[in-house]
Amino acid sequence: AERGVYNFAAGPATLPLSVLKRAQAELVDYRGSGMSIMEMSHRGKEFDAAIKKAEADLRALLAVPDTHAVLFLQGGATTQFAAVPLNLCAGPSDPADFVVSGSWSDKAFKEAKKFSAAAVAWSGKDAKYTGLPPFDAIQQNPEARFLHICSNETIHGVEFKDYPEPRNKSGILVADMSSNFCSKPVDVSRFGVIYAGAQKNVGPSGVTIAIVRKDLIGNAQPITPVMLDYKTHADNASLYNTPPCFAIYICGLVFEDLLAQGGLAEVEKKNAHKAGILYDTIDASAGYYVCPVEKSVRSLMNVPFTLAKGPDFEKQFIAEAAKEGMVQLKGHRSVGGVRASIYNAMPLAGVEKLVAFMKDFQARNP
Ligand code: PMP
Repeated sequence: AERGVYNFAAGPATLPLSVLKRAQAELVDYRGSGMSIMEMSHRGKEFDAAIKKAEADLRALLAVPDTHAVLFLQGGATTQFAAVPLNLCAGPSDPADFVVSGSWSDKAFKEAKKFSAAAVAWSGKDAKYTGLPPFDAIQQNPEARFLHICSNETIHGVEFKDYPEPRNKSGILVADMSSNFCSKPVDVSRFGVIYAGAQKNVGPSGVTIAIVRKDLIGNAQPITPVMLDYKTHADNASLYNTPPCFAIYICGLVFEDLLAQGGLAEVEKKNAHKAGILYDTIDASAGYYVCPVEKSVRSLMNVPFTLAKGPDFEKQFIAEAAKEGMVQLKGHRSVGGVRASIYNAMPLAGVEKLVAFMKDFQARNP
């Protein structure tokens, strides 16, 4: 590893070394301005160019149609759990449907209950969040304002490979894409709102990206705080107040890097290959390593697994891996076990090293 370790953290997570080096080179004197980009007015020409380029590159990457606004927001994806019903529902009695496929969509549902009549249209809880529904098993309310999904459950490792059709009268599908944003091409036109915290695939924490269909903007509930109203940010090109300038700048560098790699179709191929060798190693371990997630919906980003020999061996596995330079492999505190997060910026060599270690660990501790 060029930096001594491979970082398997779930987020904040590893970023491309080339991006970090570029940011380092520009840190003290941004492109001859004599200032760091974090010291500049967000209304100056340098930052204006940076945020415009970030938006243009993101639009190119995801082929975001003109029908949709791109917003750079704060408050994390967690704030969007409230912003979505505040912007899309008329009031607390207006219904909305949630597919609860893991901890994050459950949190989104619970927050939305404060600002809408949110209902669980399908829950994976009884199956310990190891699968997703056949789409016709989602109990959609035709009166719902939107259907909400989490496209990739970061803790449970469950990922939508296709998306359900919203069967509500507004036809609006909303997705929390925090942990698989820009990991593969997505047909943005199918979504009313896509939102994602940046700190997994595209940048540091501090900026949350929302892609919102323009005709849904401007109907927020009267109680909506000005900062949570999409109209505030759409009308002001994400510059209503001071945005997270440095985080947006880094996202811009990441978008440039993803475009230079050939775009998201290429990125998806790399991600599928990395995840493939990891799942193959788990599945070929004769039950030594266990991934509980149904094969058809296994995440390309977050790979959770346990050791059949139990938690003591998991501890030993994580400690030995760390000694060999593979860090942050501990599963989320709510589920335990091991979790390898292998976002875009995780090099193939990092995953190859991990699977070699897994085979070696199994051979040494049969
Ligand atoms: N949704 C998903 C899928 C996540 O993984 C996370 C963060 N781990 C969140 C929402 C919450 O994001 P934030 O910490 O940016 O509020």
